[in-house]
Amino acid sequence: MDCIFCKIIAGEIPSAKIFENEWIYAFKDINPEAPCHILVIPKKHIASMDEITEENSVYVSKIFESIPEIAKLGGAENGYRVISNCGKDAGQTVFHLHFHVIGGTELPIHVFPEK
Ligand code: AMP
Ligand code: ZN
Repeated sequence: MDCIFCKIIAGEIPSAKIFENEWIYAFKDINPEAPCHILVIPKKHIASMDEITEENSVYVSKIFESIPEIAKLGGAENGYRVISNCGKDAGQTVFHLHFHVIGGTELPIHVFPEK
């Protein structure tokens, strides 16, 4: 399958690893939007949040069980935000489920800052 995050998990594409266990892999975003910008992904190809099912949701639980530790390892000492873009309108560009963990600075509260 031609999935860049599956290739990162397989070690075929290099990544800056932050954390890994049997279920999940976490690495630095190549184009960070904050001092801490980590992507956390399941070690199973799930295309997006739309594809989460009873059968594969254990991967999502495992991701959220480890996010507090991953955020600290990434340098988000005073809080962090978790984002998952799902589909075209949200701007999803990589169709392997991933959660952005963003922090390391004060973040703007609104999605539309002019609001
Ligand atoms: P999204 O727009 O939510 O699908 O996010 C995809 C994210 O993957 C973007 O923030 C990219 O910067 C990031 N990304 C794409 N390719 C790589 C890569 N090879 N290593 C690390 N991050 C990547
Ligand atoms: Zn994949």
